[in-house]
Amino acid sequence: MPLFTIALTQTTINLCTLHERLQPLAHRSAASVHTHTRTRSNGPRSPPSNKQCFASLLNAFSKHPTQLMQIHALLLTTGLSRKNSLITSLISALLLMGHTIYPRRLFDTLHKPRTFLWNTLVRGYVKNDLCAEALTVYDRMHRAGIRPDEFTFPFVIKACAEVAGICGGPVVHAIVIKYGLAFDTIVRTELMIMYAKFGDLGAADYVFESMTDRDLISWNALITVYAQGGHVDKALALFEGMNLEGVRPDSVTLASILSACAYLGSLEVGMWIHRQIIKQGLHKNLFVDNALLDMYAKCGSMEMAGWVFDKMCQRNVVSWSTMIGGYAINGESEKALELFSCMWSEGVQPNQVTYLSVLFACSHAGLVRQGQMYFNYMSRPGSKIQPKIEHYACMVDLFGRAGYLLEAYNFITRMPIEPDSGVWGALLGACTIHQNMELGQHVADHLFSLAPKAAAYHVLMSNIYAAAGRWADVEKIRQRMKDHGVKKVAAYSSVESNGEIHVFHGGDQSHPQCVKIYEVLEELMKQLRNVGYTPRTSVVLHDVEMEEKEAVLGTHSEKLAIAFGLISLRSELPIRIMKNLRICNDCHTFSKFVSKVVGREIVMRDKNRFHHFKGGVCSCKDFW
Ligand code: ZN
Ligand code: ZN
Repeated sequence: MPLFTIALTQTTINLCTLHERLQPLAHRSAASVHTHTRTRSNGPRSPPSNKQCFASLLNAFSKHPTQLMQIHALLLTTGLSRKNSLITSLISALLLMGHTIYPRRLFDTLHKPRTFLWNTLVRGYVKNDLCAEALTVYDRMHRAGIRPDEFTFPFVIKACAEVAGICGGPVVHAIVIKYGLAFDTIVRTELMIMYAKFGDLGAADYVFESMTDRDLISWNALITVYAQGGHVDKALALFEGMNLEGVRPDSVTLASILSACAYLGSLEVGMWIHRQIIKQGLHKNLFVDNALLDMYAKCGSMEMAGWVFDKMCQRNVVSWSTMIGGYAINGESEKALELFSCMWSEGVQPNQVTYLSVLFACSHAGLVRQGQMYFNYMSRPGSKIQPKIEHYACMVDLFGRAGYLLEAYNFITRMPIEPDSGVWGALLGACTIHQNMELGQHVADHLFSLAPKAAAYHVLMSNIYAAAGRWADVEKIRQRMKDHGVKKVAAYSSVESNGEIHVFHGGDQSHPQCVKIYEVLEELMKQLRNVGYTPRTSVVLHDVEMEEKEAVLGTHSEKLAIAFGLISLRSELPIRIMKNLRICNDCHTFSKFVSKVVGREIVMRDKNRFHHFKGGVCSCKDFW
């Protein structure tokens, strides 16, 4: 039987046997060239050459690194290791599987590799996120006098966009022009993406506008980059332009733009996109429907997510997981767990993400025993889905939030995998909620060595000390942050009004309606104090006078956002606020009071979850 047939029919072929069979062929190969040629022209169909056999073998084992390396050994013994096409296939297959060292060594043994091989190496490095190495290879290629082609530059530009500074952009652009490739559509698309990634939207627009042969791909690419970079207005303008030019967006464009809306919490725009999708008959696509579910869940509208979910003619594990996760972050844990049961009864197998959402739901509802049960079920022997570090962090959070700090600590010490900063961070968060300074200090020691530059953990520990009035320790943390160059992330809150996102920072006075906002806030404070609201000054970190503490607290970004929402949104609409960090205790209490006194629903997404404030209570039941 010819060797390539063996390889293709028996993927578990024993390569030692193969070696034995190859030996005689190898000895024969050089001597039989002439006979072989004659046989091919005159006689019956010739057996495949060694080169063909190897090509088939490389193809058959392209996803098996060990076998590929064995095939390389065979290539060496049969004298075929200098066949460029075979080596290219071998290098390419190994790079595709994430191996970089072996293929690089192989490449370095070659004499005068051609452009195609250089391109293979550059592409392989980029695909393995080794962009700096990819640029080094390009540099070597240039020095070796090899002319790059239209297949080289898309990957060189990609690498440049990742690792080169903004100045690298025009340099690579100039090289592209020098080689006469400035009008290649793929090269231009990559240039456009690179400029957009650098934030140079003017240059990206210029490249885009000067493309005469732009196609769906170039559209899509720019929309995706704009959307992922948070430039939703630009992405939307392009999307509209696409409609005007009669180019139908595909599911990738729609999913990118919806995911940008989800990221920004832009419900108005998300709903507009949804209407366009229905109008153009682009719904009933699983990918698009799942993106819609995700957008609605992350914008805090589970009613709309539920509406889309019910109408879906096809659902997969992503659809179910998105809904379960959506209910969990929106404080509807019972619905999340109910849906999880439905998922089982419909025979859909949960995945890692589903379990994470289920554990999150249990954790945020204080359902400790139920969470433990799901975790144990997931980690039972023989289960296909074993818990990952994120699931362990969720369990620590589950115990910690509910006040079982010791259980949480013991759980960490028994973990079969090394706990990371996420796991210890969950426990430090619990120590902050339950004001356990002793354990907090111990946990902070772990965290400061694991993640010395993470501002969030320093702030948590500082909060514990501040709440206990230990200002000397607060100062020590502040000094530590300074010494280690730890920068605090500036808190901000945003509100969407008439399709525009308004962003507020603490004490912000830059908004055009600033005077009115502060007037409303002051009036609001008076009203709230009359019904029993007192600012919780313990959350203010600095050891300053009470009046000053109240002033700092009073202008937290979410309070400014609420005041702006009150003056800018129609009174029947809820005020939807997105915040980049966790909401502080005082703003939480303040929002509850506002929802009661003004009779206005406030929906707030913080770093971890949603808070739906209505009639003086929050959906998180003060458990966040
Ligand atoms: Zn606050
Ligand atoms: Zn809440």
